Amino acid sequence: MSIQKTPEKNSILFVWLNNYAGILLKTPSKTLAIDPVDVKPKTLQNVDAILITHEHYDHLDPRLITEIQKETNCTIIADAASTKKLQHAIPQEKLTEIKPGTEIKIGEVSVKAEKSNHNAQAPVTYIITSEDQVKIYHTADSLPFPELAKLGQKEKFDVVFCTVGIAPGSTPQTGFEIAWLTKPQVAVPYHTATVASQKEFAELLKKELPRTACLIPEQNKIYQVSKRK
Ligand SMILES: [Zn+2]
Repeated sequence: MSIQKTPEKNSILFVWLNNYAGILLKTPSKTLAIDPVDVKPKTLQNVDAILITHEHYDHLDPRLITEIQKETNCTIIADAASTKKLQHAIPQEKLTEIKPGTEIKIGEVSVKAEKSNHNAQAPVTYIITSEDQVKIYHTADSLPFPELAKLGQKEKFDVVFCTVGIAPGSTPQTGFEIAWLTKPQVAVPYHTATVASQKEFAELLKKELPRTACLIPEQNKIYQVSKRK
């Protein structure tokens, strides 16, 4: 499911790739993939950069990353533990380790790492800001943490991806708490194999946070989100 079309101005397109946090994201100028696993390399033939949040098997597949990097010559941005696992397979100048609080530019698209409340070696979450200032927050396997409220106020997110299952401790309720703390324009429940947990998340959101829209994604479909007015 590579994204052939280009988003309208002030918009982004995204595709949910697997049962986990795999997201393909397209801005008007760049194509990024976050935590791709369980995908065919062809799906990612147009990527400019791949972002990895942590080293767990459902987020990092070193063989897949190596294959895609060879074919596309894309940039890889990864947390410290994933960087270690990739460093012998990826050309040095194409692999960048990122730590919470630091920012990397992919052309005019900004990628900023923040902390993650997840039991991995050096996990991060990613704030991606498109060249049109559309703000996306990819929280991977993070459970809620208090600083999310400040981040939400500061960044005014358009889209926040919220884990609702599979990862240790994650439920529709913890996913909802991430949305509640960050208060995005659109919240997207992912990292689950069941539609029921996405619906449970949607119900909580409707009741407790009616100004945030819920977008329940299906895998391998393209969704567009525009910047908040
Ligand atoms: Zn996971």
